[in-house]
Amino acid sequence: NALKSLGQNFLLDLNLTGRIARAAGPLEGVTVIEVGPGPGGLTRALLSEGATRVIAIERDRRCIAALEEIAAHHPGRLEIIEGDALATDMAALASGRVKIVANLPYNIATPLLIGWLQAEPWPPFYESLTLMFQREVAERIVATPDDDAYGRLGVMAGWRTEAHILFDISPKAFTPPPKVTSSVVQMIPRRNPLPADLKAVERVTAAAFGQRRKMLRQSLKSLGTDPLPLLAAAGIPETARAEEIDVAGFVRLANGLANKTADAA
Ligand code: SAM
Repeated sequence: NALKSLGQNFLLDLNLTGRIARAAGPLEGVTVIEVGPGPGGLTRALLSEGATRVIAIERDRRCIAALEEIAAHHPGRLEIIEGDALATDMAALASGRVKIVANLPYNIATPLLIGWLQAEPWPPFYESLTLMFQREVAERIVATPDDDAYGRLGVMAGWRTEAHILFDISPKAFTPPPKVTSSVVQMIPRRNPLPADLKAVERVTAAAFGQRRKMLRQSLKSLGTDPLPLLAAAGIPETARAEEIDVAGFVRLANGLANKTADAA
């Protein structure tokens, strides 16, 4: 049904909305971009925890009246954008200090996060991401080599940010309750991530984790170049698998690949 497709599980418990807003704090002097505010439980908490401004992007027209009521109580502090967050250029929405906070609709949580992690230039337009995900996605974000959940998301998040799970939220806290436990994750952009070309990191991780059970000397063939010199230059054994390689290893592979492409051009 329509509610399901919009991923609507509302969080109205004041203790929890306050806790999430405080996790993103301090908010004085900050513009918070909130994605999917729904009827505005978390929005209210962000305003009462002192956010100078909140820009809330909500696609469901039925939520707009409730949000407008909150805006009326906080003149000049809440801007409501009715629209699709995936199609919104968030970097262009606000200047100055920006934090992103959201109880994300699960169906768009991963694509939104990937967009934020791919921001260029880096460091990005936001100071922090404080986001609620289903627990399983949160585990992929903070995963490191040899964790079952380690994959492209973990490499990307670990390369460009410091990511932590702050706390879990039981399904019972939501109306209606979702099937799974949620986790609040905080990501702080690294000011100086290991230097590498974003596109090259994406290509290498896509190839490596696209066939994650295979050895890299096999899976990296899809890059269209001989994997053996690439692996040798990165100091990675030919028999290694994607799940054993840390962020620094993927960055060395990406830089090797970028050099190859530059040589060939
Ligand atoms: N933040 C609210 C809360 O904590 O109670 C609502 C969370 S609910 C999980 C997700 C919200 O995102 C819903 O209100 C839904 O309408 C909205 N939404 C879904 N897809 C969206 C999109 N593409 N752009 C903006 N909002 C969207």
